[in-house]
Amino acid sequence: MLDGVADAPAIFIMATMGITVTQTSVRNILTRSSGYLHSVASHSLQPYRGCSYGNSLCGAGCYVQHNVFVTKGRPWGDFLEVRRNAAESYLRGFERERNWARQKLGSFGIFMSSSTDPFVPQEGRFGISKSLLEAMLLHPPDSLMLQSHSHRLSDYCPLLRQLAGETRLSCQLTIESDMDRLPGLPPPASTVDRRFEAAARLRDAGLKVVITVAPLLPIDRPEEFLRRIAQVADAVVIDHFIGGDGSDDGRRSMKTALPAAMAQVNAASIDLSYRDAIVRLANSIMPGRVGVGKDGFAGRYLPAPSNAGS
Ligand code: SF4
Repeated sequence: MLDGVADAPAIFIMATMGITVTQTSVRNILTRSSGYLHSVASHSLQPYRGCSYGNSLCGAGCYVQHNVFVTKGRPWGDFLEVRRNAAESYLRGFERERNWARQKLGSFGIFMSSSTDPFVPQEGRFGISKSLLEAMLLHPPDSLMLQSHSHRLSDYCPLLRQLAGETRLSCQLTIESDMDRLPGLPPPASTVDRRFEAAARLRDAGLKVVITVAPLLPIDRPEEFLRRIAQVADAVVIDHFIGGDGSDDGRRSMKTALPAAMAQVNAASIDLSYRDAIVRLANSIMPGRVGVGKDGFAGRYLPAPSNAGS
């Protein structure tokens, strides 16, 4: 996902644990959506460029690694640019972008984030996402989708509760499988259990929680997994790397180690029919609360099956 901005020269900060962290400033933090996100939200917003989770499980198939505009040839997971003026840029662009979105699309919605994770470990030090959420309290979008792979999202519960009073807020936590490991791939940024605990905390705080099973990985015990999701989430969105990785046939993901690792666990899982079977099961367990692909990310859910509840 392009984030169409020209950043100022980076100020080098540190290179620890294999990741180079720099500070930059961004010209326009609000990017008008295109491609996959077009029907999901009017804008995307990246507090950071690069992602500290690039060398974890989700990074293995992460489609952003193919975006040379973002990587500039750097290995994915090896760099993080801290956009120190992100909140200032948001406030400066707010009125212009809100007016544009409302006029063109009827609503000013933000997807945060599509090319990084707002809750990377470095957020604890730099607080860029926090500063953006605080800026949104002053000037809220019509809707905000907060998307993360990390349990750290739930550290922001008090602020998120305030924000939920000002905008349609959806806390989207990705849990792609009930398994923490796939053969030959690194561990996840947050364990499955920690992410479920975070989802429960967010829900207990009265926030809307959506679990994004994206990309869908092989699931050891599908029924148990989906029932667990049903307990902590308002909805589930299921997406496969085919159709969900920015190419129409999954070819971007096929260049990565992800499909082979998936196939080692369950050969059927690299086919769209696997997604369809999981979707059917999910809709029987969470009728009317299941979304597929970008429709799901946009909050458009499948109708409940006619025999639901019978
Ligand atoms: S958290 Fe998101 S952006 Fe970061 S590596 Fe994982 S999938 Fe990619």
